[in-house]
Amino acid sequence: MSWLAQALEISQKQAHPLPTKPPKDPFVSFGSTPPANSEEKKTPHERITVAAAEAVKGLSGHITAATLLSKLASEDFTDLEARADPLPFLRSFAIACVWTDFRRDGIAPPGWDQPGHCDKCGPVYLWAGIHVAGCPWCWNRLHGVKIPRPPSAGVVL
Ligand SMILES: [Zn+2]
Repeated sequence: MSWLAQALEISQKQAHPLPTKPPKDPFVSFGSTPPANSEEKKTPHERITVAAAEAVKGLSGHITAATLLSKLASEDFTDLEARADPLPFLRSFAIACVWTDFRRDGIAPPGWDQPGHCDKCGPVYLWAGIHVAGCPWCWNRLHGVKIPRPPSAGVVL
């Protein structure tokens, strides 16, 4: 499947409401059988692990729960353990990670279809038709990675 087809698939899945809490009894193996009322007896780390598995669903395999967890800093775990529901943060973070990967491959993330303008990069695709002093494509410019340009930029993709 092409990157564009995968981006469209992700974009379409994002149009649907996401579950706000993990399934009642998700299967997560930690080498033992979970207790009968596992939702209440999970440790904070187990709750984060379950939420991470839920957070990457629908992202077409672009990121796994293990990869998502590996990108978290230790301070993030402390913050997530204090949250009643870590899923919204993890879902947003998972999407941000996938979109970063798209940009690093020179592909506009789903929904980044508005011609914008960056003072440093010039015409770029953004989430809104805005003028900015710096943008997420600046990383590509600084590292010599392709930046997709709006047709009005006169650049052949
Ligand atoms: Zn820029």
